[in-house]
Amino acid sequence: MLDIQKVRNDFPILNQTVNGKPLVYFDNAATSQKPQIVIDAISNYYSTINANIHRGVHTLSQLATDAYEVSRQTIQKHINAKHAHEVLFTAGTTHGVNLVANGFSALIKTGDEVMISAMEHHSNIVPWQMLCERTGAKLVVIPMNQHGELIMEEFERLLSEKTKIVSVNHISNSLGTINPIEHIIKKAHTAGAAVFIDGAQAAPHLKIDVQALDCDFYAFSGHKACGPTGSGILYGKEEWLEKLPPYQGGGEMIKEVTFEKTTYAGLPHKFEAGTPHIEGGIVLGTAIDYLNTIGLDNIAAYETELLHYGTEKLLEIEGLKIIGTAANKTSVISFNIGNIHPYDIGAIVDKMGIAVRTGHHCTQPVMNFFDIPGTVRASFAFYNTKEEIDALVQAVLKAQRMLG
Ligand SMILES: *Cc1c(COP(=O)(O)O)cnc(C)c1O
Repeated sequence: MLDIQKVRNDFPILNQTVNGKPLVYFDNAATSQKPQIVIDAISNYYSTINANIHRGVHTLSQLATDAYEVSRQTIQKHINAKHAHEVLFTAGTTHGVNLVANGFSALIKTGDEVMISAMEHHSNIVPWQMLCERTGAKLVVIPMNQHGELIMEEFERLLSEKTKIVSVNHISNSLGTINPIEHIIKKAHTAGAAVFIDGAQAAPHLKIDVQALDCDFYAFSGHKACGPTGSGILYGKEEWLEKLPPYQGGGEMIKEVTFEKTTYAGLPHKFEAGTPHIEGGIVLGTAIDYLNTIGLDNIAAYETELLHYGTEKLLEIEGLKIIGTAANKTSVISFNIGNIHPYDIGAIVDKMGIAVRTGHHCTQPVMNFFDIPGTVRASFAFYNTKEEIDALVQAVLKAQRMLG
């Protein structure tokens, strides 16, 4: 079990007032807060070993390189990748999707199909759309039902030998749905398609085992998992990363350069052109270590408790409707009250120190499907409490009285 007060003490930002009220931070699906150990690690890096990596013979460069590569191994172990060189440092999930979608330009042709789902984040839609525009491939969308669950019969019906890659999120950021990715991966492989998993919302909440999942690619962002912004991971199976062309050219990713021809470095360097976000990569390892100290099983169990409590309490508000009622959900509650605009609710609860997100959450097709302009979204992390949920309910009731 979690000692919540102890956990909260790890996060200095939580210990403040906003608009004269204790901060209640319920925008965790947009970015998580950072524990002191992560904040300190950033400062320590710049105070002690800052140097460019992989190039220098000097001591600091070697220390920075070692720390960067140790972090890669920490993440390899954490997601159970077979090889450390299958773990690429990126700027985040968006970068990971673009890297693979660009690489697929070389592997796909007119008439082929790229499959995504109806509940994707824009960053798992647009790069694939751009790929289809470049290649003449067709974008195919797995539909969902009114609960915000993917319709598996439709998925299987749409899958064919034309499908070259299926890219779906592990967890939806606007609905909270946990998708049956094991099943999707198995079926897609049977049809001969590769599978990309957008794990931006899963990495902070669930234990991930890429070998057990057997996915071909898995991407997540550091900043949603207690790490620094601008850090992220793209896992790719060795055979796929060998097959894909490099995404960016530059220093670090080459073996030999002449004006006639350049040969590329091996994995992972082939995909890590230029000076990376060194401190971000190193400190992402610190963040992952921190999450493992708390324990992802403990985190998942506690957040499920918050989800159930929050769902029950919010549904007591007359006229409140939850968008995203999948049987298998994470701690995200999207809701609307009658025709009150989500933005107006968000602005009033902010006056009471409560941070929620309002709008389309980078999932406009989801909003179109439910025929709404947006939602109010409260997303809980393991450092939130039931008392904070009670404060949200009171604030929403007040907003309803003022706007209703
Ligand atoms: C946040 C998010 C992304 C994009 O992540 P960035 O950190 O902005 O690159 C993609 N997919 C999902 C499901 C997300 O929640």
